Amino acid sequence: MILITGGAGYIGAHVALELMNKDEDVLILDNLCNSQRSAIDRISTLAGRRPGFVQGDVRNRHLLDTLLRDYPVDAVVHCAGLKAVGESVHEPLRYYDNNVGGSLTLCQAMAQAGVFTLVFSSSATVYGDCTTMPINESCATGQPTNPYGMSKLMAENIMKSVASSDPRWSIGLLRYFNPIGAHPSGLLGEAPLNQPNNLLPYLLQVASGQREALSVFGTDYATPDGTGVRDYIHIVDLAQGHTCALEALGQRSGVNIWNLGTGRGYSVLELVSAFERVSGVPIPLAFKARRPGDVTCCWADPQKAADELAWRARHSLETMLADAWRWQCNQLQTEWVQQAN
Ligand code: NAD
Ligand code: UDP
Repeated sequence: MILITGGAGYIGAHVALELMNKDEDVLILDNLCNSQRSAIDRISTLAGRRPGFVQGDVRNRHLLDTLLRDYPVDAVVHCAGLKAVGESVHEPLRYYDNNVGGSLTLCQAMAQAGVFTLVFSSSATVYGDCTTMPINESCATGQPTNPYGMSKLMAENIMKSVASSDPRWSIGLLRYFNPIGAHPSGLLGEAPLNQPNNLLPYLLQVASGQREALSVFGTDYATPDGTGVRDYIHIVDLAQGHTCALEALGQRSGVNIWNLGTGRGYSVLELVSAFERVSGVPIPLAFKARRPGDVTCCWADPQKAADELAWRARHSLETMLADAWRWQCNQLQTEWVQQAN
């Protein structure tokens, strides 16, 4: 059985589904601070059976000890965390408490229970303002420019230390680039509870008339059209990276770092144009100053994951955007039906 912390969230829910599709038993632990219980129903519908679900906090050591005692957990995928960069600047202690404290408590409970296989949701943010592209895993981790990035780097460092202290640990640090899109069924996707910070969730709300215009942060970057370039990866590809990592960890010990990206970057304006093409919906833009802390470019060298995990991202940008738009339209329809009743 695989325990997924944060498994009701955007990434964790897709990981849960992928694992269940591979006949794994899944137990989700989530405090629902940024997700809804309905995500569990959606996973169940798509998987044809229910994952285990416990509402609770990953910082609750007693709860973790109980879960690891009562369920036959073989490995943990640790997705629980807070992820809003801007918010982390204003509430650094909440971010360190949740992201670092949660990881620390989880590692302690796992060690005590004798569960030593761990996959961690890390981020390309840990590379900081790396100037050579593409970014491979041996690039130095930079000085993340915000508490969110710092909390991911600190959690990584905790995991590196525990792995070097005890050879029984087998840990995968997955450095995600920019996950977007939704399950192709349109039943599972990102459902931000508050105003979104990330590009695509915001764009989707503009496209569906919930917001007036998409702000484009920075038009003077040293890129072909002046806007920031990122490596957008389909959420299903990303989720499959986790199943491959878990499989590989069966034969590997210590800490293993893998970039999960496509190896190709797109600018903000390229992404907007591609969205307009696949959806047929024009997106009003508001050109703004650079967002503090943003880097110019960031895209992955995904070769290490290809070599060691036999994994590669397969979906095109157009598919990511079409799937995201299908999910957004389905959600709106559900809201209308609920309001009408
Ligand atoms: P999300 O907010 O949709 O999911 C995180 C889930 O964790 C939520 O369901 C939330 O309720 C839960 N959670 C948070 N704190 C918790 C706690 N203390 N105990 C139990 N549950 C808790 O975010 P996501 O996009 O699915 O991200 C998952 C992980 O991947 C996060 O750790 C995030 O930092 C990391 N990550 C995300 C991105 C991205 O762009 N989405 C990029 C890089 C890394
Ligand atoms: N971005 C933007 N408008 C928005 C949100 C983001 O122009 O409303 C830009 C941002 O400056 C960056 C890219 O889109 O160049 C991706 O940002 P996102 O927050 O999605 O991911 P990040 O790479 O910052 O984690």
